[in-house]
Amino acid sequence: MQCDICGKEVENLTEVDVEGTILSLCDDCKRFGKPIKKPKRIIRKSRRFGKEEEEEPLEMIRSDFSSVLKSARQKKGLKQEEVAKRLNEKESLIHSLETGHHEPSLNLARKLEHFYGVKLIETVDKEGKQKKSKAKSKTSGLTVGDIIQVKKK
Ligand SMILES: [Zn+2]
Repeated sequence: MQCDICGKEVENLTEVDVEGTILSLCDDCKRFGKPIKKPKRIIRKSRRFGKEEEEEPLEMIRSDFSSVLKSARQKKGLKQEEVAKRLNEKESLIHSLETGHHEPSLNLARKLEHFYGVKLIETVDKEGKQKKSKAKSKTSGLTVGDIIQVKKK
């Protein structure tokens, strides 16, 4: 079978609506048209895929946490010793956090965020990750379901 747009000989063509005309297109070209079929099975599969990504907690300590902590403390006019006391942590810990020798755990980072009113935890861009997985499914052949999912967003 030949693709109506590029003329490439492929095994599977997808019928799509291109500006009111139904064309049989290859995987590379079908994105130019609107899908005319909605296979439910594929849509459900895509949704499950999305869920898996949401389950991963993608929280990281920002790389410049030491300078953020130091300037936040100086703004408050507190000594490392005082911060340590208030947070019920060791002074040496506060010191090594500010010098960047020690990266806080997520729990400690939350405590510090709350105390100083700063942002230490970064959430990794989920959109960027989703784009990656879309690109992956494209190489294995973009399905009509994928197009519907993309269009809905
Ligand atoms: Zn084509």
